[in-house]
Amino acid sequence: MSIFPAEIVAQDEDGPPTPLLTAARTARLISLAQSLLRMPTVNPPGNEAVAAAFLADRLRDVGLEARTVPCGDGRASCVARLRGSSSRTGLILTGHLDVVPTGSIPWRHPPLAGTVDGDRLHGRGSVDMKGAVAAMVDAAITLAEAGDSLRGDLILALTAGEEVDMRGAQSLASGGHLNGASAIIVGEPTGFDLAIAEKGSYRLDIAVHGRAAHASTPHLGANAIGAGADLVQRIEALVPSAIPHPLLGTPTLSVGVIRGGSAANVVPDWCEIEVDARTIRRHEIEGMLDLVRATAEDLAQARGVTFDLTYSGFPPVETAADAAIVIATAAAVRSVARRAPEILGARYATDAAILAPMLGLPFVICGPGDPALAHQRDESVPLGELAQASAVYEAIAREWLA
Ligand SMILES: [Zn+2]
Repeated sequence: MSIFPAEIVAQDEDGPPTPLLTAARTARLISLAQSLLRMPTVNPPGNEAVAAAFLADRLRDVGLEARTVPCGDGRASCVARLRGSSSRTGLILTGHLDVVPTGSIPWRHPPLAGTVDGDRLHGRGSVDMKGAVAAMVDAAITLAEAGDSLRGDLILALTAGEEVDMRGAQSLASGGHLNGASAIIVGEPTGFDLAIAEKGSYRLDIAVHGRAAHASTPHLGANAIGAGADLVQRIEALVPSAIPHPLLGTPTLSVGVIRGGSAANVVPDWCEIEVDARTIRRHEIEGMLDLVRATAEDLAQARGVTFDLTYSGFPPVETAADAAIVIATAAAVRSVARRAPEILGARYATDAAILAPMLGLPFVICGPGDPALAHQRDESVPLGELAQASAVYEAIAREWLA
């Protein structure tokens, strides 16, 4: 461990490098991140309860009000609150405990081992986003141990289920566990740039019902796969024509799955299609669905089939670039990482898609690590960025809650 404090230094150009964190704090941060990486929370199925309990214990030890909030079999989030001294509104730091599957190709370092090699921490979730969760917890422990009086509450929302259905964020927000805050920091990897908008993200499930017949007499049936294939081609031509969003670009529709039929010698009476839709403005999804439905109705008439369309997902969310939390986060990044962060849009959805509208709060996504490594084999994060993240989260909390 002794190499880390020397490597993790503030990038101060005037004068010799100074350690960003103390040696003891650096060791605690890395150990927290390694412990989380070694807990198998691959989703599905998730099994985040063990990680949530581990963090709740750790935070309770230093005086936070911390508990787990169950959201299914073996599933739980951790919510913790460091009480402020007055009625000033609080700050939510949020990250998720689940990770995506590790894939079938072997990794250079085992994905669930939390290996430190040189100046990087390796493993599934090192970037997305157990590294950031460890940094948030480390910042909260630091603030609790310092005992300086913060006027508002620091609230940690460490969620289950973000990678699949965001059930953890849902249950924390609807259960009133996050009340009393005025802004949200999401620690997804941005390399310390600030993402202040994210695309809406939806899945459309389309079922095609046809009529079966012997394949030697196809004119007696209604081919569900043929109708489904026609619909797929037309959906791909339905390029949404919205004016591009300055941070999010344009909306998209993409067909991801098609399945159907039972045998080559039977005219298929069923077909299922799954479509991904990404939107840039609230309520835009309704217009997209109208287009898909109108196209399906035309085809239904022509081909003698019926279509059922259902959808689920999250609307786009956005924070104003001049919002106080954006300015405070940018200032923290400048003072810790010594660089001016860029303002970006995120093409993926985070727990902010649930938390921002449910709580009515502005959000900023800012975290350690290269987002291009998320969900990839050999995911890893520089130890220096973990240390910077802990210092950034501490700085934002001090500023927001002072
Ligand atoms: Zn993530």
